Amino acid sequence: MLEIRDLHVSYGSIRAVQGVSMAAVPGRVSLVLGANGAGKTTTLKAVMGLLPLSEGHVIVDGEDLTRKPTARIVARGVSLVPEGRRVFAELTIEENLLMGGYTTPKKSRTRLLGEVFDMFPVLQERRSGAAGLLSGGEQQMLAFGRALMSEPKYMLMDEPSMGLAPAIVERVLLTARTIADRGIGVLMVEQNADAGLRVADDVVTVSAGEVVFSGSVEEAKAEKAILRAFLGETALAE
Ligand code: ATP
Repeated sequence: MLEIRDLHVSYGSIRAVQGVSMAAVPGRVSLVLGANGAGKTTTLKAVMGLLPLSEGHVIVDGEDLTRKPTARIVARGVSLVPEGRRVFAELTIEENLLMGGYTTPKKSRTRLLGEVFDMFPVLQERRSGAAGLLSGGEQQMLAFGRALMSEPKYMLMDEPSMGLAPAIVERVLLTARTIADRGIGVLMVEQNADAGLRVADDVVTVSAGEVVFSGSVEEAKAEKAILRAFLGETALAE
């Protein structure tokens, strides 16, 4: 299990994250909901060692990785699918994927590349093409693939459906489900609560840098305040 315990992160005097605890569990999708500015991205970046945390712990399978370098955290089985995908537009698809495997032993890279191509055939077909020429949905597949190249046990996904056409949103979130079904623990920030709830097992809601609710999808659906906040009034009528 990846445990985030009592995390605190500040930007100067702005306390962006104030005691957040959540977890990623093998085989499960944990959905993180919260308004813009709630501290979701900050939490994921701090877990990866991309932002300094002022308090709290990041424990991966019992090992304390708090404040460890990002490469070490990746090598211990945690990878990030960043907000906005962040593919290297000028590099080829294959080069992008190999960037994701930079901590992976060389002999595993070819096998992992094959696994990613099996999962996303479009990436194989266009492996020598520039990543910037892919559609938004395809770039999201590439971002998933790149994160899979480090053979993670846990994947942190930051708004994977952001900016995608409605028809693609469903596919992207189903991919998150497929990844979890392979035994990976997925912790996914997602604004599209409706589609996210369809693929998730657990839900955490965050507001102003603090966790408000944490429980199963069934428990979340029983909380009218959560439905009202994230799905709107119409969801209550169902
Ligand atoms: P979003 O959905 O908009 O990405 P979020 O829940 O991921 O929101 P964060 O991006 O983590 O929220 O931001 C949490 C708080 O920290 C907000 O008040 C935001 O304005 C502030 N913040 C984020 N990045 C910085 C930064 N680089 N410098 C200063 N303040 C920041």
